[in-house]
Amino acid sequence: PRQKFIAGNWKMYTTLEQARELARSVAAGVDAETARRLRVAVCPPFPWLLPVGEVLRNTPVALGAQDCHYEREGAFTGQVSPYMLREAGCQYVIIGHSERRHGLQESDEFLNKKLHGALRAGLHVIFCIGELLSEREAGQTESVLLRQLQNGLAGLTAEQAAALTIAYEPVWAIGTGRVATEEQAQQAHAFIRAQIAERFGSTAADSITIQYGGSVKPENAAGLLRQPDVDGCLVGGASLKADSFLAIVRAAL
Ligand code: 13P
Repeated sequence: PRQKFIAGNWKMYTTLEQARELARSVAAGVDAETARRLRVAVCPPFPWLLPVGEVLRNTPVALGAQDCHYEREGAFTGQVSPYMLREAGCQYVIIGHSERRHGLQESDEFLNKKLHGALRAGLHVIFCIGELLSEREAGQTESVLLRQLQNGLAGLTAEQAAALTIAYEPVWAIGTGRVATEEQAQQAHAFIRAQIAERFGSTAADSITIQYGGSVKPENAAGLLRQPDVDGCLVGGASLKADSFLAIVRAAL
């Protein structure tokens, strides 16, 4: 069975003080038994990676970033290299979040370059995909997911696909309080896994981690995590409070 993976995406929230405190509380709430059974990570804003990494040192909670550039270095004002993230202590990076796809017009092709850049640097990637409400209502959910997978994961080896985390985040569920139903989540996750099997083979499909994201709360986490193809959650708002994030972690046990 796949190990569950719960990650917190702090987005552009927290002061430095709050970030340290949140990391301390999360780490204090993940005991050795929990750490044996599942993976937990938090993804703070860039400037807080080093101080939060300091707090998380020698704890089972891993550090992740929310984005990266695809090059190792260069004249890219304002961008952050995946190698810098590694050196700052990150194990994970989120790529393709809808707030970048739709808010900043990042294309499938651009995100594919970032994915390869991050893998070259040795990061584990949480690659986000998901349909808009208008696309779901037009019956295009699967074709959108298929396109995002086909273009987004182009050039990956089966081994790289097996080690990947995909976060299925329906855009209409992000920050809206309107969580996908367990059936909607399971259906999308099963579709994603089937596509991975088709492209990369059944070993990759069995190993790949597929998280659900979008209005995950302590109240709905257990039901989502019980679905056979839901391997974890990518949590936004509820990851900003240690109590609720830890309740979601416990729901995955
Ligand atoms: P919310 O949990 O706030 O809906 O955000 C989900 C998300 O975008 C995680 O990446």
